[in-house]
Amino acid sequence: MARRKKIYEGKAKILYEGPEPGTIVQYFKDDATAFNAEKKATIDGKGALNNRLSEFFMKGLAGIGVPTHFIKRLNMREQLVRQVEIIPLEVIVRNVAAGSMAKRLGMEEGAQLPRPIVEFSYKDDSLGDPLVPEEYVIAFGWANQQDMEDIVSMALRVNDFLSGVFFGVGIKLVDFKIEIGRVWDNDFMRLIVADEISPDSCRLWDIETGRKLDKDVFRRDLGDLADAYTEVARRLGVLPSNVTHAHTPTLIN
Ligand code: UDP
Repeated sequence: MARRKKIYEGKAKILYEGPEPGTIVQYFKDDATAFNAEKKATIDGKGALNNRLSEFFMKGLAGIGVPTHFIKRLNMREQLVRQVEIIPLEVIVRNVAAGSMAKRLGMEEGAQLPRPIVEFSYKDDSLGDPLVPEEYVIAFGWANQQDMEDIVSMALRVNDFLSGVFFGVGIKLVDFKIEIGRVWDNDFMRLIVADEISPDSCRLWDIETGRKLDKDVFRRDLGDLADAYTEVARRLGVLPSNVTHAHTPTLIN
Protein backbone atom coordinates (compact mmCIF):
# COMPACT_ATOMS: atom_id res chain seq x y z
CA MET A 1 0.00 0.00 0.00
CA ALA A 2 1.22 3.50 -0.76
CA ARG A 3 2.68 5.27 2.22
CA ARG A 4 0.00 7.47 3.70
CA LYS A 5 0.54 10.92 5.01
CA LYS A 6 0.50 11.10 8.78
CA ILE A 7 -1.51 14.10 9.93
CA TYR A 8 -1.20 13.77 13.67
CA GLU A 9 0.05 11.35 16.29
CA GLY A 10 -1.53 11.47 19.72
CA LYS A 11 -1.12 9.34 22.82
CA ALA A 12 -3.45 6.51 21.77
CA LYS A 13 -4.14 7.13 18.08
CA ILE A 14 -2.54 8.16 14.81
CA LEU A 15 -4.45 10.07 12.15
CA TYR A 16 -3.60 9.57 8.46
CA GLU A 17 -4.93 11.33 5.42
CA GLY A 18 -7.96 9.41 4.15
CA PRO A 19 -8.67 8.19 0.62
CA GLU A 20 -11.16 10.99 -0.15
CA PRO A 21 -10.98 14.67 0.70
CA GLY A 22 -12.65 15.27 4.06
CA THR A 23 -11.82 11.79 5.36
CA ILE A 24 -9.24 10.57 7.85
CA VAL A 25 -7.96 7.13 8.77
CA GLN A 26 -7.88 6.75 12.53
CA TYR A 27 -5.34 4.14 13.73
CA PHE A 28 -5.69 2.81 17.28
CA LYS A 29 -2.36 2.16 19.01
CA ASP A 30 -1.72 -0.25 21.85
CA ASP A 31 -0.15 2.54 23.88
CA ALA A 32 -1.70 3.51 27.19
CA THR A 33 -0.84 6.70 29.02
CA ALA A 34 -2.08 8.24 32.23
CA PHE A 35 -1.40 11.30 34.36
CA ASN A 36 -0.68 13.43 31.32
CA ALA A 37 1.65 10.76 29.86
CA GLU A 38 3.81 10.48 33.01
CA LYS A 39 2.82 6.80 33.12
CA LYS A 40 3.13 4.82 29.88
CA ALA A 41 2.82 1.23 28.70
CA THR A 42 1.99 -0.86 25.68
CA ILE A 43 -1.00 -3.12 26.19
CA ASP A 44 -1.31 -5.89 23.60
CA GLY A 45 -4.73 -5.87 22.02
CA LYS A 46 -5.92 -2.52 23.39
CA GLY A 47 -5.92 -0.78 20.00
CA ALA A 48 -7.96 -3.50 18.32
CA LEU A 49 -10.46 -3.55 21.19
CA ASN A 50 -10.92 0.22 21.22
CA ASN A 51 -11.31 0.27 17.43
CA ARG A 52 -14.13 -2.27 17.75
CA LEU A 53 -15.74 -0.65 20.77
CA SER A 54 -15.64 2.85 19.32
CA GLU A 55 -17.21 1.50 16.13
CA PHE A 56 -19.95 -0.14 18.19
CA PHE A 57 -20.80 3.02 20.15
CA MET A 58 -20.57 5.40 17.21
CA LYS A 59 -22.86 3.17 15.11
CA GLY A 60 -25.30 2.95 17.99
CA LEU A 61 -25.34 6.72 18.36
CA ALA A 62 -25.94 7.18 14.63
CA GLY A 63 -28.79 4.69 15.02
CA ILE A 64 -30.56 6.98 17.49
CA GLY A 65 -29.86 10.09 15.43
CA VAL A 66 -26.76 11.46 17.14
CA PRO A 67 -24.35 12.42 14.34
CA THR A 68 -20.79 11.12 14.58
CA HIS A 69 -17.61 11.17 12.53
CA PHE A 70 -17.60 7.38 12.03
CA ILE A 71 -17.83 6.15 8.42
CA LYS A 72 -16.61 2.54 8.53
CA ARG A 73 -14.11 0.24 10.13
CA LEU A 74 -11.30 -0.64 7.74
CA ASN A 75 -9.46 -3.40 9.61
CA MET A 76 -8.45 -4.51 13.11
CA ARG A 77 -6.84 -1.23 14.02
CA GLU A 78 -8.19 1.37 11.64
CA GLN A 79 -11.42 3.15 10.91
CA LEU A 80 -12.39 5.71 8.32
CA VAL A 81 -13.87 8.86 9.82
CA ARG A 82 -14.98 12.29 8.67
CA GLN A 83 -12.44 15.02 9.01
CA VAL A 84 -13.68 17.60 11.50
CA GLU A 85 -12.47 20.83 12.98
CA ILE A 86 -12.13 19.73 16.55
CA ILE A 87 -13.43 22.03 19.29
CA PRO A 88 -10.57 22.20 21.81
CA LEU A 89 -12.66 20.90 24.70
CA GLU A 90 -13.00 17.65 26.57
CA VAL A 91 -16.71 17.37 27.17
CA ILE A 92 -17.11 15.34 30.34
CA VAL A 93 -20.38 13.90 31.60
CA ARG A 94 -20.61 12.54 35.13
CA ASN A 95 -23.28 10.40 36.74
CA VAL A 96 -21.33 9.37 39.83
CA ALA A 97 -18.55 11.24 41.65
CA ALA A 98 -15.10 9.88 40.76
CA GLY A 99 -11.65 10.94 39.59
CA SER A 100 -10.89 14.63 39.48
CA MET A 101 -14.37 15.68 40.63
CA ALA A 102 -14.25 13.53 43.76
CA LYS A 103 -10.77 14.87 44.51
CA ARG A 104 -11.61 18.52 43.85
CA LEU A 105 -14.72 18.49 46.02
CA GLY A 106 -13.53 16.01 48.66
CA MET A 107 -16.34 13.62 47.72
CA GLU A 108 -16.25 9.90 48.17
CA GLU A 109 -15.81 8.05 44.87
CA GLY A 110 -19.07 6.34 44.05
CA ALA A 111 -21.47 8.99 45.36
CA GLN A 112 -24.44 9.26 42.99
CA LEU A 113 -24.80 12.81 41.65
CA PRO A 114 -28.20 14.53 41.87
CA ARG A 115 -28.31 14.61 38.06
CA PRO A 116 -25.87 14.14 35.20
CA ILE A 117 -23.34 16.98 35.19
CA VAL A 118 -21.62 18.21 32.03
CA GLU A 119 -18.28 19.99 32.38
CA PHE A 120 -15.57 21.21 30.03
CA SER A 121 -11.80 21.01 30.09
CA TYR A 122 -9.61 22.98 27.74
CA LYS A 123 -7.61 20.51 25.64
CA ASP A 124 -4.01 21.44 26.30
CA ASP A 125 -1.66 18.81 27.67
CA SER A 126 0.96 21.37 28.65
CA LEU A 127 -1.62 22.89 31.02
CA GLY A 128 -2.99 19.52 32.15
CA ASP A 129 -6.39 20.05 30.43
CA PRO A 130 -7.75 22.61 32.95
CA LEU A 131 -11.43 22.71 33.82
CA VAL A 132 -13.02 25.78 32.22
CA PRO A 133 -16.40 27.42 32.74
CA GLU A 134 -18.68 27.93 29.73
CA GLU A 135 -18.02 31.67 30.09
CA TYR A 136 -14.38 31.08 29.05
CA VAL A 137 -15.38 28.90 26.11
CA ILE A 138 -17.62 31.62 24.73
CA ALA A 139 -15.36 34.57 25.59
CA PHE A 140 -12.36 32.95 23.91
CA GLY A 141 -14.43 32.04 20.85
CA TRP A 142 -13.90 28.27 21.02
CA ALA A 143 -17.67 27.88 20.63
CA ASN A 144 -20.66 30.21 20.82
CA GLN A 145 -23.73 30.09 23.08
CA GLN A 146 -25.78 28.11 20.56
CA ASP A 147 -22.92 25.62 20.03
CA MET A 148 -22.68 25.14 23.79
CA GLU A 149 -26.41 24.44 24.09
CA ASP A 150 -26.12 21.92 21.26
CA ILE A 151 -23.02 20.34 22.81
CA VAL A 152 -24.69 19.93 26.21
CA SER A 153 -27.81 18.37 24.73
CA MET A 154 -25.72 16.07 22.53
CA ALA A 155 -23.57 15.06 25.52
CA LEU A 156 -26.68 14.23 27.56
CA ARG A 157 -28.11 12.14 24.71
CA VAL A 158 -24.80 10.28 24.47
CA ASN A 159 -24.97 9.77 28.24
CA ASP A 160 -28.49 8.35 28.11
CA PHE A 161 -27.58 6.04 25.26
CA LEU A 162 -24.32 4.78 26.77
CA SER A 163 -25.79 4.47 30.29
CA GLY A 164 -28.59 2.30 28.91
CA VAL A 165 -26.33 0.13 26.79
CA PHE A 166 -23.94 -0.45 29.69
CA PHE A 167 -26.75 -1.01 32.21
CA GLY A 168 -28.05 -3.75 29.93
CA VAL A 169 -24.79 -5.65 30.39
CA GLY A 170 -24.42 -5.06 34.12
CA ILE A 171 -22.08 -2.07 33.94
CA LYS A 172 -22.49 1.34 35.56
CA LEU A 173 -21.38 4.28 33.42
CA VAL A 174 -19.75 6.52 36.03
CA ASP A 175 -18.43 9.22 33.71
CA PHE A 176 -16.97 9.69 30.25
CA LYS A 177 -15.35 12.16 27.92
CA ILE A 178 -16.27 12.98 24.34
CA GLU A 179 -14.90 15.40 21.82
CA ILE A 180 -16.99 17.38 19.39
CA GLY A 181 -16.03 18.51 15.91
CA ARG A 182 -17.48 20.86 13.32
CA VAL A 183 -18.24 19.79 9.78
CA TRP A 184 -19.60 21.87 6.94
CA ASP A 185 -22.16 20.66 4.45
CA ASN A 186 -21.88 23.52 1.96
CA ASP A 187 -22.34 26.58 4.18
CA PHE A 188 -24.21 24.74 6.89
CA MET A 189 -22.15 23.98 9.99
CA ARG A 190 -22.98 20.94 12.11
CA LEU A 191 -21.53 19.62 15.35
CA ILE A 192 -20.79 15.89 15.48
CA VAL A 193 -19.29 13.46 17.97
CA ALA A 194 -15.64 12.80 17.02
CA ASP A 195 -12.48 11.18 18.46
CA GLU A 196 -13.39 7.87 20.14
CA ILE A 197 -15.68 6.33 22.70
CA SER A 198 -13.95 3.46 24.50
CA PRO A 199 -12.99 2.30 28.00
CA ASP A 200 -9.99 4.66 27.65
CA SER A 201 -12.37 7.59 27.98
CA CYS A 202 -15.11 6.18 30.25
CA ARG A 203 -15.30 5.01 33.84
CA LEU A 204 -17.09 1.67 33.92
CA TRP A 205 -17.88 -0.27 37.08
CA ASP A 206 -19.37 -3.73 37.23
CA ILE A 207 -22.75 -3.26 38.93
CA GLU A 208 -22.55 -6.45 41.02
CA THR A 209 -18.93 -6.50 42.09
CA GLY A 210 -17.76 -2.91 41.60
CA ARG A 211 -14.85 -4.23 39.49
CA LYS A 212 -13.34 -1.45 37.40
CA LEU A 213 -13.46 -2.16 33.66
CA ASP A 214 -11.81 1.00 32.31
CA LYS A 215 -8.49 2.84 32.17
CA ASP A 216 -8.40 3.21 35.97
CA VAL A 217 -7.18 -0.43 35.93
CA PHE A 218 -4.01 0.95 34.34
CA ARG A 219 -3.92 4.30 36.16
CA ARG A 220 -4.25 2.61 39.57
CA ASP A 221 -2.46 -0.72 38.87
CA LEU A 222 -5.57 -2.82 39.46
CA GLY A 223 -4.76 -5.68 37.09
CA ASP A 224 -4.68 -6.48 33.39
CA LEU A 225 -6.16 -3.69 31.28
CA ALA A 226 -6.67 -5.87 28.20
CA ASP A 227 -8.65 -8.36 30.33
CA ALA A 228 -10.94 -5.57 31.54
CA TYR A 229 -11.53 -4.20 28.02
CA THR A 230 -12.06 -7.71 26.66
CA GLU A 231 -14.73 -8.24 29.30
CA VAL A 232 -16.52 -5.04 28.22
CA ALA A 233 -16.34 -6.07 24.55
CA ARG A 234 -17.50 -9.61 25.31
CA ARG A 235 -20.53 -8.44 27.29
CA LEU A 236 -21.51 -6.05 24.52
CA GLY A 237 -21.26 -8.83 21.94
CA VAL A 238 -18.47 -6.99 20.16
CA LEU A 239 -16.24 -10.06 20.47
CA PRO A 240 -17.20 -13.63 19.76
CA SER A 241 -18.20 -15.09 23.14
CA ASN A 242 -15.50 -17.77 23.04
CA VAL A 243 -12.78 -15.11 23.27
CA THR A 244 -11.75 -14.94 26.89
CA HIS A 245 -8.52 -13.02 26.71
CA ALA A 246 -7.41 -10.08 24.59
CA HIS A 247 -4.05 -11.68 23.98
CA THR A 248 -5.75 -14.41 21.97
CA PRO A 249 -5.62 -12.95 18.45
CA THR A 250 -9.10 -14.04 17.44
CA LEU A 251 -10.56 -10.64 16.59
CA ILE A 252 -12.22 -11.10 13.24
CA ASN A 253 -12.18 -8.37 10.62
N1 UDP B 1 -10.98 11.60 30.51
C1 UDP B 1 -10.39 11.33 29.29
N2 UDP B 1 -9.30 12.07 28.90
C2 UDP B 1 -8.78 13.04 29.67
C3 UDP B 1 -9.38 13.32 30.91
C4 UDP B 1 -10.47 12.58 31.30
O1 UDP B 1 -10.85 10.46 28.55
O2 UDP B 1 -7.78 13.68 29.24
C5 UDP B 1 -12.15 10.80 30.95
C6 UDP B 1 -11.76 9.87 32.09
O3 UDP B 1 -11.40 8.60 31.59
C7 UDP B 1 -13.05 9.79 32.88
C8 UDP B 1 -13.72 11.15 32.66
O4 UDP B 1 -13.12 11.68 31.47
O5 UDP B 1 -13.90 8.79 32.36
C9 UDP B 1 -13.54 12.11 33.80
O6 UDP B 1 -12.16 12.19 34.10
P1 UDP B 1 -11.65 13.04 35.36
O7 UDP B 1 -11.92 14.47 35.13
O8 UDP B 1 -12.20 12.46 36.60
O9 UDP B 1 -10.09 12.94 35.29
P2 UDP B 1 -9.06 11.82 35.68
O10 UDP B 1 -9.48 11.24 36.97
O11 UDP B 1 -9.12 10.88 34.54
O12 UDP B 1 -7.77 12.59 35.74
